[in-house]
Amino acid sequence: MTAAQSEANLSEESSGQQPQAAGAPRVRFAPSPTGYFHVGSARTALFNWLVARQSGGTFVLRIEDTDAERNREEWVDGIISAMHWLGMDPDEGPYRQSERMARYHQAIDALWEGGFLFACGCTHDEVDARNKAAGIATPGYDGHCRDLALTRDEGRALRFATPADGTTLVRDVIRGDVEFPCASMDDFVAVKASGAPLFALANVIDDIDMAITHVIRGEDLLPTTPKCILLWEALASCGWTTDGTAGPVGAPTPALPVFAHLPMLVNEARKKLSKRRDPVAVESYRDQGFLPDAFVNYLGLLGWSPPEDGVEIFTPEQMTEWFRLEDVNHSPAFFDVAKMTHVNGTYVRAMSIDAFVDACQPWLVGERAPWPDQGFDAEAFAAMAPVVQERVAVLSDVPAMVDFLFLEDPPIDEEAWAKAVAGDDGARAILVSAIDAFEALRSSWGSEALHAATLVVAEGVGRKLGKAQAPIRVAVTGRRVGPPLFEALEVLGPDRTIGRLAAALARLDAAGAA
Ligand code: GLU
Ligand code: ZN
Repeated sequence: MTAAQSEANLSEESSGQQPQAAGAPRVRFAPSPTGYFHVGSARTALFNWLVARQSGGTFVLRIEDTDAERNREEWVDGIISAMHWLGMDPDEGPYRQSERMARYHQAIDALWEGGFLFACGCTHDEVDARNKAAGIATPGYDGHCRDLALTRDEGRALRFATPADGTTLVRDVIRGDVEFPCASMDDFVAVKASGAPLFALANVIDDIDMAITHVIRGEDLLPTTPKCILLWEALASCGWTTDGTAGPVGAPTPALPVFAHLPMLVNEARKKLSKRRDPVAVESYRDQGFLPDAFVNYLGLLGWSPPEDGVEIFTPEQMTEWFRLEDVNHSPAFFDVAKMTHVNGTYVRAMSIDAFVDACQPWLVGERAPWPDQGFDAEAFAAMAPVVQERVAVLSDVPAMVDFLFLEDPPIDEEAWAKAVAGDDGARAILVSAIDAFEALRSSWGSEALHAATLVVAEGVGRKLGKAQAPIRVAVTGRRVGPPLFEALEVLGPDRTIGRLAAALARLDAAGAA
């Protein structure tokens, strides 16, 4: 094999050689389950899913779980359930690398016999010391064992003998042609001293066996891609054949897949998103009450946008129709939580009222609800739902808007109390006069009558309506912001409204007397 063989991998050129029928793309999402499902991974899954959906192709899920120390089964469950939530169930898989070790060992044998690997017994320190003595500043393997013909003993790493010259060309649909000079690639470890295959080797063997036609993944993997290409070509020239995972057993190694490396996601400081610093867990957005379609819509804007300028809200079907891998931008994409929240609010407001009420259920009953289940009143919620729907961006905002209805004694926010009641010398007069006015409305209780009565109360103390509402709202709901006051009071009913106003008045007087 020569580096010159590292060539074309565009779909037009390779599709005829793919094992599956009709040349439909086979894409894969290949996460390593080492933590919460990262938004960047979700974006990668989406772009793969879109390519499969728009072409009658196959979306494969492969769990790259060879690193037993860092992988946990719960992370695998998290990936699968988040993909389901987002409507991106795989067509095939999950395959698991941990179950394919025997296959990797076959490939390692083939590469060894083909002369592509050599054994190396050097430690890091030995390599460093030699580099230092030779005055080489850049760290890297110096080729020491390449011609020593060491035997393949246990405890020795196997390195891949990279070509001395030439370039490995990554033809990337998004980034164009990226050249990697072979001279700057050291003889990398393909099999660790433990006998475990390098990540890129397992990855390539799987892509061959799974008949993958398009490798669509994060840009962080671009530097690994020349190794993948060298390994792929080495296997091909060893006469490596497929194991039948997808397509026939014994088919020759197919041509290289199409590569597409997606732009990285950055935060507002234009820094790469970090698991520690940034809110990146898809699970947490689900728990906050983002809607799956809105979330997918926003993910679609991370590196891509619809052909028509200014269009930012679209369905998964529209995205499937419009998406082109070659239209993906290669510059970093800002993961903007505020914008995503705004997109979600747009979706919330577009829901039918019934759909909204249904979607709210997990926040209204059960462990997420801040009130006991028996305090919840579905009819009261339904009555408030239209005004609540107008005011929330994510569903987890809902309980705070309606808790005054379902908590026996809603706690009063102390800051709100200090500002709107204790700190307002007109508050007492407003409370006294509102209690009187509302008492008179008991038999004709309704938002319009309450509104009219409160206007009279406001005039009586020389206030604008808005100013007069503040102490009433805090007394009744415990907060300074919330749904429109008179709708809220209508649903709450006269007993509780007047009772809470009276309690607030008593508290104010008790504080005054103290
Ligand atoms: N398992 C790799 C990762 O999670 C991705 C491999 C790939 O997509 O080729 O970073
Ligand atoms: Zn060595």
